[in-house]
Amino acid sequence: VKGNPLITSCGLFTNEMQQKIQWETYVNQHMEAALNNKEFSVYYQPKISLETECIVGAEALVRWIVADGEVISPIRFIPIFEMNGFIERVDFFVYEEVCRFLKERLDRKQKVVPISVNVSGSHLTNPYFVQNVISLVKRYEIPTHLIELELTESVCIENSKVAIDMVKQFRENGFLVSIDDFGSGFSSLNLLKDMETDIIKLDRQFFREGEMHKEEQIIITSIVNMAKKLNMKVISEGVETRAQSEFLKGIMCDMAQGYFFAKPMPLDSFEAELLQNT
Ligand code: C2E
Ligand code: MG
Ligand code: MG
Ligand code: MG
Repeated sequence: VKGNPLITSCGLFTNEMQQKIQWETYVNQHMEAALNNKEFSVYYQPKISLETECIVGAEALVRWIVADGEVISPIRFIPIFEMNGFIERVDFFVYEEVCRFLKERLDRKQKVVPISVNVSGSHLTNPYFVQNVISLVKRYEIPTHLIELELTESVCIENSKVAIDMVKQFRENGFLVSIDDFGSGFSSLNLLKDMETDIIKLDRQFFREGEMHKEEQIIITSIVNMAKKLNMKVISEGVETRAQSEFLKGIMCDMAQGYFFAKPMPLDSFEAELLQNT
């Protein structure tokens, strides 16, 4: 029935579903070889001090670079790895790359900044996770204060007892811990009462394109003020414009991370940035 929008959209929907299943099958069949063939790569996105505009850290973000050089975004494969369990191996691959990078710079007596890595919710069900991270970092002789663990707000809320305990263990061992995507879900404020972390990462949804609304400005200002009283630092994610950056500087937000300053980049580019901008 030509031109019937209902049928057209149904057809599209099925096609989309089919593509999704095909992609999932491809990922499941190729992930193991991809890890062995070093198709995963760690990109680094600088974190900037709003006061000095220097690089004061970076977030490690995984990429899958397939044979033809195409860079695949983690949002297309991390959720699949979280379902099939492969995330545990990919995350440790990322953690090890970060350790290797820091170790090389420390050995060469070059300047280093703390690097943050993402912690998938899957790790929370592994009682050895914290110990495994500690062992890895020890093996590379990296001071723990150079590694920051990012736990998303939603993961913390879903499994709050385990998350609170894990955060405590990491901090007792000298690691930095941050709450990622803060403000994207519910119960954010309750979380702050129960879980002590070093840093809050304000979700990038606060900085969507266009100018900021008054309400958003009030909420962000309040979170920054509250964090200061709780002895936490605040970093804003997804900062894309000068106006946003200036607003954040004005309310004494500590750091920013976003395309306005730099996109996630391969290691050699990041090292070149470090040379210029620390
Ligand atoms: P996330 O941890 O919240 O990371 C920040 C995401 O925001 C990154 O997306 C980054 O590229 C993006 N971003 C930064 N600045 C801007 C900006 O100005 N505008 C916009 N539109 N986006 C910006 P990316 O690299 O695609 O990663 C997406 C998510 O995938 C991450 O969100 C994280 O949850 C997950 N992820 C990435 N790498 C890893 C990893 O190695 N392990 C685990 N478990 N998850 C990872
Ligand atoms: Mg993150
Ligand atoms: Mg985030
Ligand atoms: Mg996110």
